[in-house]
Amino acid sequence: MEVNNLFKKTYIKANNIKVNLDLDINDSIDVNYIDILRNKTIEKEVLQSVTCVCHDPKYYNEYYDKCPKCEGNGEVLISNNTLICNHCHGSKSVVKHHCSICDNIGSYLSRKKINVPLNESIKDKDIITLDGLGKKEKGNFGNLNLTINIIDLEHYQIKDNDLYYKRIIPYTQKEVANRVSKQVETPKGFRKINVDDKDEYQVIRLEDSGINGGDFYVAVKKELPPIRGNDVYANVILKEGLYKFYLKKEDLYDVDKPLKEVHYFKPLNDPNYLYLDLDNLTSYQVIKINNKGEKGRHGGSNGDLYLKVFIGDKFLVNNNNLYDLNIEFSDSELNLGKKILSLYNEKVTFSFPKELKEFSFVKVGSLGLIKNKLENKDLFALIKPGNKYLYKISVMTNKSKGTIFITDYHHFFNEMVEAYTSSVNLDNYLTLDFKGLKKSRVYHLNDQYGNDVVITLIKGSDING
Ligand SMILES: [Zn+2]
Ligand SMILES: [Zn+2]
Ligand SMILES: [Zn+2]
Repeated sequence: MEVNNLFKKTYIKANNIKVNLDLDINDSIDVNYIDILRNKTIEKEVLQSVTCVCHDPKYYNEYYDKCPKCEGNGEVLISNNTLICNHCHGSKSVVKHHCSICDNIGSYLSRKKINVPLNESIKDKDIITLDGLGKKEKGNFGNLNLTINIIDLEHYQIKDNDLYYKRIIPYTQKEVANRVSKQVETPKGFRKINVDDKDEYQVIRLEDSGINGGDFYVAVKKELPPIRGNDVYANVILKEGLYKFYLKKEDLYDVDKPLKEVHYFKPLNDPNYLYLDLDNLTSYQVIKINNKGEKGRHGGSNGDLYLKVFIGDKFLVNNNNLYDLNIEFSDSELNLGKKILSLYNEKVTFSFPKELKEFSFVKVGSLGLIKNKLENKDLFALIKPGNKYLYKISVMTNKSKGTIFITDYHHFFNEMVEAYTSSVNLDNYLTLDFKGLKKSRVYHLNDQYGNDVVITLIKGSDING
């Protein structure tokens, strides 16, 4: 087939898109109304003409032959007259190999990201023309005609120069109690809205955030908090074992939304901090702090805060379960497979398989972190020999050298590395040479108390940070 005839095709098979004979490309885009009002330039995927591989100079010879009639001149000399070659129609070449991408048209349409400049005068279904972004042929350019679809127009209403946002913004009870400031996008940018706790519905006026100096209006639907605020149940793990400290509400460990696992408190003269005198407090006690729960509604009182306190650096949290490394097992307890603990002023008896493997965890019961008044997460104890400690540490690494902080079992625990140690000082740091490590290497060491330390290095992914 001749190249020129192929150019007359009115469609491109590869994309199933109808294309006009002229060089314009017609497409449509979805936009947000606020983006128009803000005169934004948005990045959108639109149809663009792409030169096909068969017209890439590098591969052209694989797809096209020189026209045999005019020998690639495009014209022939007949009786001293120069005429356009009727075999190749002046294109100088004929198709050698059919191109299934473009049917030898030389280009096809494909979606590509371009910047589309919007402005506030654009209306829904308007067509904006981007000059020169259509098809290109022999130095000629077509235009890109984009039909604008404003997809969220029904969410807005204009009255004079005021803009009304018709979608109601929901506020949960907690958000109202905490006076959360949500953001709305206006023609003047993002604006914060402030709610009160008086009525279920509140219309908020954002001055000078509409059109041409008008205002922006938004409605809020609130779940009002109870007159008296809800009680809050939280956990706090005091790694330092301090007995007097200040804490912020955000520092409390919330089972549903854990923020931090271990908390450090610094005394600050900040009214947002809660001062607690925890003299004579031991782990596994619940203390009630009046008036420090969720805020009550206007005119009502706050809820109370119930705080479960764990003291010391041998408490770990994983999947919201609490792991207590303080619990010790005597030989007779291990042989019996039974232990009695005193928790929350109660004697708790729990059993476990006899002669259980050292350094495995056993479930004590649903006595761990507090979730609400009725529900507790699980508490686990670590089985370890009563007298002599054995430290087993496995480290997976790709490093050639590494420093292991032996007492930082908390870090290892999080990285799912078996590393159970007490806070016994092992000179704290061990520098191990990983060079030449093929699969694994075992180090047998002793700490200053004569305890055995077994460290297994396993070659693998670097999880030791
Ligand atoms: Zn020819
Ligand atoms: Zn082919
Ligand atoms: Zn092609």
